[in-house]
Amino acid sequence: MINKNTEPKIGYVHSLQSMGAVDGPGIRFCVFLQGCPLRCMYCHNPDTWLVKKTGDDQSYFGTPYTAEELVKKILRYKTYFANGGGVTISGGEPLMQAEFVTELFILLHENGVHTCLDTSGNFPENLSELAPIPVEHDDAATGSANLETDVLKEVVFSDTHPDTKAIDASKGIGTSNTCVDTKVIEIRKNSTAHEKYDRLLDVTDLVICDIKFTTEKDYRECTGGSLKKVQYFLDMVTKHSVPLWIRHVVVPGYTDSEEEVSAMAEIARSYPTLEKIELLPFHKLCIPKYEALGIPFRCADIPECSRETIEKLNLLISI
Ligand code: SF4
Repeated sequence: MINKNTEPKIGYVHSLQSMGAVDGPGIRFCVFLQGCPLRCMYCHNPDTWLVKKTGDDQSYFGTPYTAEELVKKILRYKTYFANGGGVTISGGEPLMQAEFVTELFILLHENGVHTCLDTSGNFPENLSELAPIPVEHDDAATGSANLETDVLKEVVFSDTHPDTKAIDASKGIGTSNTCVDTKVIEIRKNSTAHEKYDRLLDVTDLVICDIKFTTEKDYRECTGGSLKKVQYFLDMVTKHSVPLWIRHVVVPGYTDSEEEVSAMAEIARSYPTLEKIELLPFHKLCIPKYEALGIPFRCADIPECSRETIEKLNLLISI
């Protein structure tokens, strides 16, 4: 249930597609959101990158919707969702607007509609701000995030303890407090952020996630993001038992070698809810968007990926 006592979240929508057939099972209503923390070298949607305008103009890109307004629009197409279809939310990066997406998915579930989150797995928070995910995992296969447990000394206060002043002084806490002890506790440094994604995955029926590159170095250089973040997010998907499809864009000279595709498939297979791996051919249909935005397309000189290459590499990704 959406909390009716709080203001509904506003989602900033780049575009809507009412009869999508490629982003999840069946016929899908696709919602593309504004905002992405990555800058992938081959991005075909650079017009979704920004959410908020900069400078004096602090308004937002995209069309603002509440979840309720969007669901009203979506439900007009509900009859098309009959054979396993539903709603896919994509972008941009939908994790940038996770609370809005959660409200949307809650309402869609109340109306019996299947929900799919199409994400890069790169949430906007720093990785060090989030707690480790307690799941069984084959670290050797994946080079898992290997986060250290966050530990804090919690200060225990009392108004009546006789040794208060001495303890306060020795710990440099200040004499106005009544500190009597410390105890070590494990905390989530940013539990709000963590719980935000827990709530979203609770109402997500399918996650489609890209594994764009298979080493942290390549991932950083070619997207500006972090593979460790993706693995962290996929650990959350595992914890919530959400079915998973993995995607990989095949870019000639970058991600089209048998070694790279095999490494990607090995990472993907380490997640127990994996149902499917899809290879997507790199193409350059986005060039007019870059020209209109006046920004360079880093892959302009790279040839498009052929169907034969995809067919050959498909032999490596069986589950
Ligand atoms: S994740 Fe990469 S490809 Fe997707 S919108 Fe962001 S920059 Fe573009």
